[in-house]
Amino acid sequence: MTEKILILPGDGIGPEIVAQAEKVLTYLINECGLKVTIEHGLLGGSAVDATGVPLPDATLAKARGSAAILLGAVGGVAWESMERALRPERGLLAIRAALGLFANLRPAVLFPQLAAASSLKAEYVRNLDIMIVRELTGGLYFGEPRGIRTLDDGQRQGYNTLVYSEREIERIARVAFDVAGKRRGRVCSVDKANVLEATELWRDVVTNVAQDYPAVELEHMYVDNAAMQLVRAPKQFDVMLTTNLFGDVLSDLASMLTGSIGMLPSAALARDGSGLYEPIHGSAPDIAGQDIANPLATILSLSMLLRYSLAEIKLADKIGLAISQVLSDGLRTKDIHSAGTRCIGTSAMGDAVVQALASLS
Ligand code: NAD
Repeated sequence: MTEKILILPGDGIGPEIVAQAEKVLTYLINECGLKVTIEHGLLGGSAVDATGVPLPDATLAKARGSAAILLGAVGGVAWESMERALRPERGLLAIRAALGLFANLRPAVLFPQLAAASSLKAEYVRNLDIMIVRELTGGLYFGEPRGIRTLDDGQRQGYNTLVYSEREIERIARVAFDVAGKRRGRVCSVDKANVLEATELWRDVVTNVAQDYPAVELEHMYVDNAAMQLVRAPKQFDVMLTTNLFGDVLSDLASMLTGSIGMLPSAALARDGSGLYEPIHGSAPDIAGQDIANPLATILSLSMLLRYSLAEIKLADKIGLAISQVLSDGLRTKDIHSAGTRCIGTSAMGDAVVQALASLS
């Protein structure tokens, strides 16, 4: 049976960057024998404008019928003042929850050609290869009760709940240990167990799960120290396992070590291997519609989709090689541009990756 890939362009730069990944996907279908069909759907602000809600039933139905989903990004100023339930980001949280996408894999890998674009000196990031495993459907972003209430003295008070069950911690810990077993065999679990009870339990459960993985070495680190260590000596990390909130922040931080937030892909996986793939950045409204956004994180997200949901390892590797080729040729979007390289637009970068793929065949 031919598998379906659902493409959700989203808002802001989403349609521009997703179009480049679709060029690559179309090339793989037409020229490399990849057997998938492509569908499109609405999510986020564009869905609110068209249907009144950020996650339309039609999108969810298409998502359930797909082997994997490729997303651009959602959000933008136009929808920020809407009631919370109608905001684009709620659509993203809702699709993650509805599809059980609890495991977020966020690799921070430095292409050697971009060492000069890193915010750290080259010697600190050469060969950098970290995998951040972030819990994605629990913790502070989903905990109830939440809201903004007015107190007796008339002051407004905002509140959220950090809550994790043993089951939620155990299943994400197992993902991290499995991933580490296929890499350099080390897990650093990041928490704030000295202050937050929810992460005291996190530490306890992760320690218990580690007993089933004797070949993997486990270390615990407080999140404030982990942030410091990421900019002090990032190569000490192999797999970083952490909560929804901490993973969100640490992976943006790690992105700058690799040159640009426009370089980092991610996978959100369910138990059955289906998944949603997206760049870690947002919809970048400040540069939308200008043909200057970097589409490589989205194209790398397509590579992860091929690897994790379709087991098309060779094609996934081929995309990585093509991107490496393009960077070696000195082509750069504005965010990673430096002296001695040629600055090109979003669409030209997509074309360059397709050309590089063709030259590898
Ligand atoms: P952002 O990631 O969109 O942008 C942060 C900075 O990085 C901006 O200066 C932007 O121009 C730059 N940037 C981002 N992606 C880039 C790319 N591919 N190429 C070059 N430069 C890039 O974060 P933000 O500005 O905090 O948020 C903008 C909107 O995106 C908000 O509405 C936010 O809620 C939403 N958002 C969505 C997601 C998602 O869809 N998963 C994630 C984060 C933020």
